[in-house]
Amino acid sequence: MLMKIIFVLIDCAAVLGLYFTHKAVGRNIKEEYGIWLRKTLFAGIIAMFANILIAYSFDYAFASISFSIYFASIDWILYYLVGFLLAYTEHDKALKIMYRPAAVVFGLDSLSLLTNRIFGHAFYVFSKKNYGDVHFYQTRGLMPFYIHLAIDYTAIAIALFFIIYRLIKTYSIYRIKYVIILSVLMLVILLNLLYMMLELPLDASVIFYAVAGMLIYFSIHSFVPRSLKISSLERAINDMKEGLVLFDISDNCIYANDFSKQRFDIDESTYTPKCEPAATIITNLSVKGEEFGESNYSRTVAKDSDEVREHYVIKYNRLNDGKGRMIGSYLLIEDNTDQVRYLDEIKKARDIANEANNAKSSFLANMSHEIRTPLNSVLGMNEMIMRSTEDKQLLEYAGNIKSSGDALLSLINDILDFSKIEANRMEIAPVDYDPHQLLRDCCNNFEQMAEIKDLYIKVECDETIPSRLYGDDKLIRQILANVVSNAIKYTREGGVTVRVSDDGFAEDVRDLVIEVSDTGIGIAADDIKYLFDAFKRINEKQNATIQGTGLGLAITKELVTLMHGSISVSSKEGQGSTFTIVIPQKVVEAKPIGEFKRHVEGSAKKYTESFKAPDACILVVDDARLNLKVAQALLKNTEIQVETAGGGNEAIEKCRGKKYDCILLDHRMPEPDGIQTFEIITKEGMNTDTPVIMLTANVISGAEEEYIKLGFAGYLSKPIRGEDLEAALIRYLPEEKVKAQ
Ligand code: ADP
Repeated sequence: MLMKIIFVLIDCAAVLGLYFTHKAVGRNIKEEYGIWLRKTLFAGIIAMFANILIAYSFDYAFASISFSIYFASIDWILYYLVGFLLAYTEHDKALKIMYRPAAVVFGLDSLSLLTNRIFGHAFYVFSKKNYGDVHFYQTRGLMPFYIHLAIDYTAIAIALFFIIYRLIKTYSIYRIKYVIILSVLMLVILLNLLYMMLELPLDASVIFYAVAGMLIYFSIHSFVPRSLKISSLERAINDMKEGLVLFDISDNCIYANDFSKQRFDIDESTYTPKCEPAATIITNLSVKGEEFGESNYSRTVAKDSDEVREHYVIKYNRLNDGKGRMIGSYLLIEDNTDQVRYLDEIKKARDIANEANNAKSSFLANMSHEIRTPLNSVLGMNEMIMRSTEDKQLLEYAGNIKSSGDALLSLINDILDFSKIEANRMEIAPVDYDPHQLLRDCCNNFEQMAEIKDLYIKVECDETIPSRLYGDDKLIRQILANVVSNAIKYTREGGVTVRVSDDGFAEDVRDLVIEVSDTGIGIAADDIKYLFDAFKRINEKQNATIQGTGLGLAITKELVTLMHGSISVSSKEGQGSTFTIVIPQKVVEAKPIGEFKRHVEGSAKKYTESFKAPDACILVVDDARLNLKVAQALLKNTEIQVETAGGGNEAIEKCRGKKYDCILLDHRMPEPDGIQTFEIITKEGMNTDTPVIMLTANVISGAEEEYIKLGFAGYLSKPIRGEDLEAALIRYLPEEKVKAQ
């Protein structure tokens, strides 16, 4: 009896096992073979029930029916199991061909087994007393029963064949998948044989199938993916271009991937944290007071008779288990050689670029100096002519010299401005100004240029705009000059119209709208987008004879943006262009400005000095004698006592014996230059606290700050304008010596 109870309990456990496995299959295994496995397990459950019924059969009829169900369900276990194995071993084609005929064969066999009670053709049941008084019903097969057995074993043999075939064909890493299935199947066969040898009173083979089903499920669900994951991981880690070395808790090396083995000659059996590179990393970290972390490691190795410097970033970290307990440590080695090399190259390239930039700046400074110095003399002397003559003709000629000189100056300024903008050093210096004056100056400056080309310049100024505005008139002049000069340059006939209006959106701030239209060559629609690019000249072939740098509009745009304004263009090729500039300006006097007059009586007003200072004495130092004369002439009417020195040494000598009220010092002179002279003068002699103004042609970005930093009171850029010179002197001369006019 005990035997029966144990047997039934095992059967019940198997039923439960199969039931839960059956449920789990649906969630975790690929559908193609999951369906087959689920059906196998379901047939297993039916077989287990039949087996329990056999154990509890109370008469022949019951036992006979139970056996029929049992044998038939084993048929279907095998049918679905083979189906599963074929699907799992990727024999989809064979499966597709066989599953229907096999179903017919197994169906007929099951039918034959299930009708055995009626015909008694397959097996008969007999009762056997065993283990004391307990009856067991057993069967003995007749002819069709052996056919049934043959079908079952053929199915197993087919499955075996396909598994072994796949095992041979597949890559080594995937063999594990099939080895496990094969092992399970072999185990079932072995246990079956063992059971037959033991001649147990009850059939246990179905239990083996159940165990096999569950084992298969667990192996394909967790063991196979796990083992695939581990072997794939190992291969991936070996493929990496980084090194990985693992240590156990006692610092024994348990793994080193190919990269670390090849680069550092690591032998897993002898490698410890005391070997390189681990030793250096650990020492570096402990110097920083850390136990784990990241450090750099460099070494020189011989490669093809060359010495190569290699750089690595190495992480040394602890390995923790799920609960945060340390279970070992690892080294992660990253080859940084290329990055270090690229960085070096970038640094070198940056140094070269910086050098080139410095060369450019010094070229600009030189060029500016070289051009400004003679220009200083030309414009200075010209101003002398303008001051000393009443002759209208002469005044006109001198005026022309002045405007050409100014144009040349503006070209230099363009280049310098661009470098200032590039260095973010352009600043706004707002003042009160008269918009009419601004327009007048601008148009008059270009009158001659237009006249030469037989073009007109028209000005249409809205009479209602405010009579005084507050803004950087110098920048607006520059913007206007760029756009108007372009309009003249790129127009062959007709002329240029400048329209000025305002867009009053508030009492105290107005949008000054300046429109410059020409009847010139126009700009192709496709080119408009490049118009404001620096150094970009459009239609270069056609415009080859027209002078230009391609900088004017780039600077204009930057200046407009700096003043929070906007610039736009509308143009038609061959018909002309209109540039519209909108700049917000503060209103100083809202009174309408009235009618615009191009020429104002007395506008070419004669020069009068702004002050007189006969008691003041200044020293002007310049190696260009002509410039000394210009300075003297410019200051003649102020009656200042002007002493001159033709170089640094002469100036120092003079300063030792006399105290001056102000010194104007040229920068570029043969040794000692302006700065060296300044240093000596402020250290010795009687002029240690005399304000020194630097006269320079060096007006590139940052020059003024440099001079102030060095201790100069201020600086005046060449060519010096009489008004600027007087304005500076009023500021620096002792108040009691200056008599304002
Ligand atoms: P550039 O020194 O060459 O005049 P700009 O930056 O001032 O440089 O102008 C860039 C280009 O835009 C010019 O080369 C010219 O082709 C085009 N351009 C500018 N203004 C006009 C205009 N009023 N009419 C036609 N083309 C113009």
